[in-house]
Amino acid sequence: MVRTPRESKPCAHCGRPFENRKRWDGREQWDAVRYCSRACRSAAARERRRA
Ligand SMILES: [Zn+2]
Repeated sequence: MVRTPRESKPCAHCGRPFENRKRWDGREQWDAVRYCSRACRSAAARERRRA
């Protein structure tokens, strides 16, 4: 995997690609983030709990 300053990856919930943001500046944070927004993160968490 190539690491560039401007990475993007698909959201684990809605599948839309999103870019790394300043608030995820730390490499570890960007690796940990999987959703494009808080809404998607909470929606995915809710779905996981149901399923
Ligand atoms: Zn999303």
